[in-house]
Amino acid sequence: MKLILLGAPGSGKGTQAAYITEKYNLPHVSTGDLFRENIKNETPLGLKVKEVMDTGNLCPDDLTVELVKDRLSKADCEKGYLLDGFPRNLYQAGELDEFNAPDKVINLVVDLGKIEHRITGRRSCPKCGASFHVDFIGNVSNCPDCGEALTIRKDDNPETVKERLSVYKAQTEPLIDYYGKQGKILNVNGDQPIDKVFEDIVKVLGQ
Ligand code: AMP
Repeated sequence: MKLILLGAPGSGKGTQAAYITEKYNLPHVSTGDLFRENIKNETPLGLKVKEVMDTGNLCPDDLTVELVKDRLSKADCEKGYLLDGFPRNLYQAGELDEFNAPDKVINLVVDLGKIEHRITGRRSCPKCGASFHVDFIGNVSNCPDCGEALTIRKDDNPETVKERLSVYKAQTEPLIDYYGKQGKILNVNGDQPIDKVFEDIVKVLGQ
């Protein structure tokens, strides 16, 4: 099964991706994670995209498409994939349709007015990859799962979040219509408890 997880920044894509990949045994391909890994390892790609990522804008299409093409050509993606954070605009969607078109697109629908609160309260664990919201874990500084010190993503600050949201509205939201016309969109209410969102995802996937 080839799946895309679509939704605004902070809509819970990363959290749901962890559940989906486990249940359906699919590789989780997150372009944001791949870029952050490259930045951390100071690779040539990381050095190229660091600045633009810090501003909340999109990385260049050619670099992003190459990154995904390369990742999807790996053996673990032969049985399918779960794409999270890609495509982000119509150009990328067109390219993906050319080299490895998705079967279904899960669209996490959330109230965009609550996004800033959802994102600025986000804490992530650099060791086990889990992410949490301070509303649920309180102001703790260590990962409730593995004990590592929690971190805040560099682009999870109010200024950058505003930019990311406007990029989402202008460039990514049109994908709902794009995939809707292909009959691939499955809308799921993302403004619910995490386990209920996942339950609804399983329901709409129907398997
Ligand atoms: P994310 O973790 O998906 O929120 O992505 C974090 C940042 O990585 C974005 O704000 C972009 O700067 C960059 N990025 C992630 N995915 C893409 C993509 N498909 N196209 C361009 N830039 C991306």
